[in-house]
Amino acid sequence: MSVNYDLRVIPVTPFQQNAMVFWSTETMNGVLIDPGGESEKLLGAIDDLGVNIKEIWLTHGHIDHAGGAAECREQLQCKIIGPHADDQFWLDQLEENAQTYGIAGARNFTPDTYLNEGDTVKLDELEFQIFHCPGHSPGSVVLYCKELSFAFVGDVLFQGSIGRTDLQGGDHQQLLNSITTKLWPLGKQISFMPGHGPGSVFEKERQSNGLVADSITMYAD
Ligand SMILES: [Zn+2]
Ligand SMILES: [Zn+2]
Repeated sequence: MSVNYDLRVIPVTPFQQNAMVFWSTETMNGVLIDPGGESEKLLGAIDDLGVNIKEIWLTHGHIDHAGGAAECREQLQCKIIGPHADDQFWLDQLEENAQTYGIAGARNFTPDTYLNEGDTVKLDELEFQIFHCPGHSPGSVVLYCKELSFAFVGDVLFQGSIGRTDLQGGDHQQLLNSITTKLWPLGKQISFMPGHGPGSVFEKERQSNGLVADSITMYAD
């Protein structure tokens, strides 16, 4: 990713969600992104890596992304930043959803800070810009780092696919709009890590993603 930063992906929950530790190899300060569950495993990995977690960043409020956040906040003594306030209704039903999906230890919570379009979050001096990208969930955000040409996109976009829109508050057309009007303008050579599966590059998705390739979306509406 860069000589100065590193990323460790730790799949958690039955959904194999990409919980991530992202850190500076210079300062060893880092952030924990989308701790969906299996907090013990995440805290153990953070310990092994020797990373000093400064904040927890959430892309959206679904159980597989946020289920372990309250526990990790308590253990790591740090703040939860994000998602957008429109996903608070998901954060209010984490315990209920955890029972449904067999995810242990989830707790409902309120983030320390909600994220809005145009906000920035920082790891040391490295800045990420926030884009509110509803459609998969109403409060989904994408965190984009210009310096690294890299984005954490949650379940907005996947390699070869996009987020599901059949859950509460989902909207397919809104998701397509979020991707084509907020992500594509950032440039083609942007690498991204989604909430599930492998990472990819915007350009590849614009060429071959069956749902949001330029050949399809350019002629829509
Ligand atoms: Zn989701
Ligand atoms: Zn997910």
